[in-house]
This record gives sequence, C-alpha cells and structure tokens, in this order.
Amino acid sequence: MSIEKLTILGSTGSIGTQTLDIVRRNPERFRITSLVAHSRWQELAEQAREFSAESVVIGDKNHYRALKEALADTDIEVMAGNEAIEEVARSYRSDTVVNALVGYAGLHPTYLAIESGKRIALANKETLVVGGDIIMAAAKRKGVDILPIDSEHSAIMQCLEGEKRRSIRNLIVTCSGGALRNIPREELHSVTPEVALKHPQWSMGSKITIDSATLVNKGFEVIEARWLFDIEPERIKVVIHPQSIVHSMVEFTDGSVKAQLGNADMHTPISYALLYPERSSEAMEHFSILDYPTLTFAEVDREKYPALDIAYECLQRGGTAPCTMNGANEVAVAAFLNHRCGYHDIVGAIRYALDNASFEIRPTLTCYDEANDEARELAERYLSRR
Ligand code: NAD
Ligand code: MG
Repeated sequence: MSIEKLTILGSTGSIGTQTLDIVRRNPERFRITSLVAHSRWQELAEQAREFSAESVVIGDKNHYRALKEALADTDIEVMAGNEAIEEVARSYRSDTVVNALVGYAGLHPTYLAIESGKRIALANKETLVVGGDIIMAAAKRKGVDILPIDSEHSAIMQCLEGEKRRSIRNLIVTCSGGALRNIPREELHSVTPEVALKHPQWSMGSKITIDSATLVNKGFEVIEARWLFDIEPERIKVVIHPQSIVHSMVEFTDGSVKAQLGNADMHTPISYALLYPERSSEAMEHFSILDYPTLTFAEVDREKYPALDIAYECLQRGGTAPCTMNGANEVAVAAFLNHRCGYHDIVGAIRYALDNASFEIRPTLTCYDEANDEARELAERYLSRR
C-alpha cells in the first residue's frame, strides 16, 4: 500500500485533532504534508513536530512570528495568511486535502484542491452549502473523489455501496435534535449560549454545536446531501433520532431500508473517508447494539425549528440563496456566542438577509464572495437594529 500524503486544513479543531488520531494509528499509511490552523500556534507547532510536517500555516498573521520562533530549530516551513492556506491546498506535494475549516473560509481551498486534482475528505460542509453546484461540477471534470466527513453522509455513502441510483427512493437523514430538544418552543427565547453548547451526544466545535441546536446544521446537511448524492431535495427526509446511533438511512424502491449504526464518534466517518475503499482494521471504541435496546424516531417539529424549512427554501431557490443563509448564520452564531444577541435572532438574521439580499441564479466563485459579504452586512444590520 502506498503512502498517502495529507494536508489538514483546521488541524487544531475537533475534526482536525481526530483526523490526526487516525493518522497516528496508521503511520505506514499516511504522511503529513501541511497543517493549517487559525490562531492556536502552540498546538500547531506541537502537531507539526510530532508528525514531521513539511509546512505549517497559521491563518492569523499576528501569530506568524511566534510560530516561526517555536519551530526555528526544525526544517518545517512556516507560512501565514489566507494566500498561504490556498497555496498549501493546491500544492503538488499532497495527495489528499482534509478540509476541517469552519464556515465560508473553506470554499476556496476546497475548490483549489479539486482543481489541482486532489482527493478531498470534506468536513467543511459550508463548502457544499454555498457552492455545491460549482464544486461537484469541478470534481466531476477533474475526476476527483469527495469523501464526506459528516456522520450522516458517511452513513448514506456506506448504505449506497453496491446499489444502483435508480433503486433509491429516499435518503433519510437522522437528527439528534441538538442541545435544546427537550426545551419547549416557548422557552427558547431565553436560551443562553452555555445551554445551547451542551450537545447531548457529540463533542464538536462551537459553531456546529450552535448550528445543531437551531437545526441550521440539519438544513445544511440536507443541502450537502443534495450535492454529494445528486438527489432532488424532496427525496431527502429528516427524522429526529435522539440516541444518535443510526447515523442515517436509505430507502430503496422495493421498500427495503438500509441503515448504518455505530457509536456517536467522528473517528469512524473520518477513518472511513481516509481509508476508503478499505476499512480500518480496528475500531476506536467497540459498539454493542445491546447497549441500546431502545432506538426511537420522531417527526421534526417544524415550528420549533424554522431553520430546516428555510434550508429547503434556499435549495429550491438555488443560486446564491444558500450562500446568503450561510453568511448570515455565521455572523449571527458568532454574535450569539458572544452574548450579543438572543437565540431567535439567529433565524431572524437569516430571514432578514434572505429577504433583502440580491440574488444571482448562476453564480461564479466571485459572486459567492460578494453574496457572502452582503449577507454578513445584512445580518450585522439586522442585529444592530433590534
Ligand atoms: P473547530 O472550531 O473545532 O475547528 C476548526 C479548525 O479550523 C481549527 O483548527 C481552526 O483553527 C481552523 N480554522 C477555522 N477558521 C479558520 C480560518 N479562517 N483560517 C484558518 N484556520 C481556520 O470546528 P470543527 O467542529 O472541527 O468543525 C470543522 C468543520 O467540520 C465544520 O465545517 C463543521 O461543520 C464540520 N463538522 C464537524 C463535526 C464535528 O464533530 N466537530 C462533524 C461534522 C462536520
Ligand atoms: Mg452531521
């Protein structure tokens, strides 16, 4: 088996560090080319040493000097800023790019990595939410595989192995309901970030944890599934499944339903994406169905979670609409985390941005940059006027 050279964008985050766990367990399989993080330069320096990376990039240029000094006794190349992130994303030195950045920042690096013919292990779902059309077309043109690092999409991909497209009736995406699933709708207005950050099943970065509480994340996953599996939005269903054991399902035309089950542990979808079409010979943690004698499923309360229908609406509108939703959400989630606005203002800002943004039906990557900037401004305006 040949050694695969990996670049990890977002190596200090939740997905990034778990990706490095998989690399650590498979030293004969992977080498690290580049590691990228935003500001945690000490951790980045430690990772670079441990994995003998060829280069590191710190997104926030203010930390360049400190990182450079921390690695002064090594041969590791040190770079900073967005241009450097784009440079390592397309560098000929790596075979695969793991994109575990958060938010819109992931779009251009994914595109550049595809254009330079690399395999993509994609955790940054915002890439597909914003630019699924362009990204999937580029991947097809380049013959590049995009392997999802999202438990639901990994599950669907596993259920679809060996199946014919025409046999698929529906994709059924499961949803834990997030941290607020037991809080009644009438009480949501007073929810604090501290409460919304307590996800019952998954330990993840703060942005996706808030997105899970609002179900924006589930809406984004519907959009992600639409592009990854090239399926009409009406055939993507969402069901609440509080135990997070069934990671998603596929219903076939003969009435059969396949599901993929396992612990709520991102190491499994990460290793599936990295080792595909092989599987890891050993689980991080063994799963026993006997530990889960009761698995339950329920309809989503669409009034409690309006973000899900907004995501379907954006898919229906197409063009820059999902990009507008994403940009406004990023601003509002950051404001909510900083106690600058309330829980309902997240959906409020998204609605305001969608109702007031300009719209482009056939966007280019530059159009996305403009739509993202505009959505961010609109969300700021909404938040400042409340
Ligand atoms: P995180 O906040 O824990 O980590 C993000 C990483 O990206 C950090 O290393 C950070 O330094 C880096 N980063 C962020 N913005 C950057 C920028 N502008 N420039 C350079 N580096 C930047 O986030 P996470 O939870 O690991 O999520 C990463 C992505 O994976 C998100 O798109 C998320 O939706 C998706 N995802 C995460 C999980 C999970 O379990 N955490 C599951 C499914 C999908
Ligand atoms: Mg998910």
